[in-house]
Amino acid sequence: MDEMIPKLFGTSGIRGKLVSELTLELITDIGMAVATYIGGKGRKIVIGYDTRTSNKMVENAITAGILQCGCNVIRLGMVPTPLVGYAAMKLGADLGIMITASHNPSQYNGIKLWNSTGMAYTQDQERTIEKIVHEKSFSQASWEFIGKIEDNEGVVFDYINDLLDNVDIKGNLKVVVDCASGAGSYISPIVLRKAGCHVLTLNCQPDGFFPGRMPEPSQANLSELMKVVKATGADIGIAHDGDADRMVAIDDQGRMADFDKLLALVSSKIGGKVVTTVDASFCVDKCMEDVGGEVIRTKVGDVHVAEVIVESNASFGGEPSGTWLHPDFCMCPDGILSALKVIEIVEKYGPLSKLLDEIPSYPTIRDRIECENIQKTLIMEKVKEELPDYFDNVLDVNFIDGVRISMEDGSWVLIRPSGTESYIRITLEGKTMVTAKEIQNKSREFIEGIL
Ligand code: MG
Repeated sequence: MDEMIPKLFGTSGIRGKLVSELTLELITDIGMAVATYIGGKGRKIVIGYDTRTSNKMVENAITAGILQCGCNVIRLGMVPTPLVGYAAMKLGADLGIMITASHNPSQYNGIKLWNSTGMAYTQDQERTIEKIVHEKSFSQASWEFIGKIEDNEGVVFDYINDLLDNVDIKGNLKVVVDCASGAGSYISPIVLRKAGCHVLTLNCQPDGFFPGRMPEPSQANLSELMKVVKATGADIGIAHDGDADRMVAIDDQGRMADFDKLLALVSSKIGGKVVTTVDASFCVDKCMEDVGGEVIRTKVGDVHVAEVIVESNASFGGEPSGTWLHPDFCMCPDGILSALKVIEIVEKYGPLSKLLDEIPSYPTIRDRIECENIQKTLIMEKVKEELPDYFDNVLDVNFIDGVRISMEDGSWVLIRPSGTESYIRITLEGKTMVTAKEIQNKSREFIEGIL
């Protein structure tokens, strides 16, 4: 497709700062573009939004564009992202739209699109939407065919019931859940309580200013949750991002669960064929090997995971970030179902701390090379262009955060400039210490050669 068409979509939908990047005109154009794309007149679109201050404004703007092109809108209100994917599927809609900027700060918002199967739009579909927006080739309806709006308050109950049918939880665990005042705030605690857990809540009052903590479920943002888990003697802590398609866990000792190990644990209990990204640790392969399962790797990004799950008929898939897909339920990543799955495992097999400690760690090296701040850009440009050629088994190179080179055997190296100090950082994982050292030496030599 035409390279000149400006990109609107990033790795997870459209994101931007309100007013300066995400303008009302653009939002309305996107509404017309998606309605045009799915065939216009008479098609059905479900829309939900997270807790951001701009949620209704964006919903109204995109809805105006959709109605103009003759599609009908089913409003879900303030719901987690996975409910939009589920509702698109359940209500037989032609498209699901979630208005969210996920874990970004308050001043951002965004738009994420879902197919009628509950699967995220692929890059090809997103490029087509960008083309329609760029060319303004909208198929607008005449006055007598303007779309209609209806509200749906029932599908949430189907969602909750179906979630609970998907797991076998007796309900004897004490759980602390922290929703960051985001889209999971109402539903996640309700689901956990209905599962029978003893639930304590933290930041479960919806608030687009995210007063309790920022919506990114990072170690730094979850210190309070960790303390509460420990202080209350809870079995587990659950934290969602701003739209609850992700979750991370805190173990019974108040430690944040290692992302890779948690993914490995759940993968091995589900078994069969599991899909994960190139940046996930070997511990996933090791745990799957132990249960006679198979691991398939994809590029980073939940839609890539979803595509490969469908292609390979896998039983589960996820990224180490805590974005997990449960294909038996829906093809949309679901942080609430992921939480239920972890709770089910902890209930059956014992304390989370013990389960995670049993999972092996692989040689990881964190190295750094001193450089002037002014040299960082040049170094990173050279790394991007030339370093991949220094390795002969490269599977994938991505530039999401620095330069990450993934090898065919699963080893990987990430090169990125420190944001605060005068260093270039090298982080890597090797299958053996020898491989790890080799990757470290090659990366070091290359960067030192530029200096
Ligand atoms: Mg998210």
